[in-house]
Amino acid sequence: MFEKLDEIKVLRDPVHGYIHIEYKVIWDCINSREFQRLRRIRQQGSSFVVYHTAEHSRFGHSLGVYEIVRRMCNEIKDIDDYLSEEDKVVVMLSGLLHDIGHGPFSHTFEAISDIKHEIYSCRILEEDTEVHRALENSRRGLSSTVASVINHTHLNPILAQMVSAQLDADRMDYLLRDAYFTGTKYGEFDLERVLRTLRIKDNTIMVKESGVHSIEDYIMARYHMYWQVYYHPVARSFECVLSALFERMRDLTSVNPKVLKDITIFDDFIMHGVKPSLQSHFLLDENSCFYGFQKLMKHEDKILSDLARRLLNRDLFQYQDIVDRKTIEEVTKRTTDAGYHPKYYVKVDNVRQRPYQPLGDDRSIWILMSNGEVQELSEGSPIVASIIKGKNKADNKVFFPR
Ligand code: ZN
Repeated sequence: MFEKLDEIKVLRDPVHGYIHIEYKVIWDCINSREFQRLRRIRQQGSSFVVYHTAEHSRFGHSLGVYEIVRRMCNEIKDIDDYLSEEDKVVVMLSGLLHDIGHGPFSHTFEAISDIKHEIYSCRILEEDTEVHRALENSRRGLSSTVASVINHTHLNPILAQMVSAQLDADRMDYLLRDAYFTGTKYGEFDLERVLRTLRIKDNTIMVKESGVHSIEDYIMARYHMYWQVYYHPVARSFECVLSALFERMRDLTSVNPKVLKDITIFDDFIMHGVKPSLQSHFLLDENSCFYGFQKLMKHEDKILSDLARRLLNRDLFQYQDIVDRKTIEEVTKRTTDAGYHPKYYVKVDNVRQRPYQPLGDDRSIWILMSNGEVQELSEGSPIVASIIKGKNKADNKVFFPR
């Protein structure tokens, strides 16, 4: 038995109404310094430059994922019957802690620093940290069990499916939360209906045939959110300037390791061949990054100070569609003629997205028909079939200063 709190804690949440916390270990993890750090990392690294209220954090999102997982455990009869109490606590913790290794500025920073947040999530759970101690104090070995759900090696496949597949608590929360905080209606779908129609068959979470419409709505929500919010060109422009800034820091440091003087927070992330320690990873959040940018703004290197200023003042790059190779050549020439170094001031960014992938395994979405047969979502839904049969929607742009 896992220890329960004397009284259930309830936290107000604009997406779910309330988040309910019953187990002490969940509460202890929330109060760990590593989980509290998530307050200092925005859920959407760069959307705030487009949607001014998109300031919500990974802290709120992580609580939201936990709440959806908790509801799946308690309200979906098949899941309630299928999982032991231990499995339920493990999967709730996995939902809560799935993003604990995230660095600042979302996936852009992962590309810049070559850090995979999943790897750091597992390290934070299994090495000497406050959240590790909270887990181990509750039950020995719990930290590795939770890590095994996050890295998809847990023996019970249902647990990973609940947290990360194509119809999982992570995506359900971030779509609803990002839609709410950006003020876009596209990301909304009927969470209550989706939850009501989930079933388990053949060790796989499925959707009842009568739930297909709500799943179609969920897939469409994803489609629209990607093109309207996640891949918005102005947000991508912020990311281009950010990666140019890190490139410049890395280039300067490789010539002179002392060039950044008293700005040490970026050291572990820009030195060649260095894997950031958990302590450096812990200290680097968006607040400390922006403080670093403010200091860089006064740096004697003109490129460094200009790029830092652009991030702080939202003086971002403009952009143009790439029609053919000539587009990039022309932009590079114009930018160079204007006195800018093209390595840092001409950035190409290609994005493509398919809102649903019929993978054919337990990461696909499966429909449980009323006659007991099972169909993969794109077979059962003409709407989803038409989205994935069309060409992969792509957007290729080049970014450069005004
Ligand atoms: Zn997440």
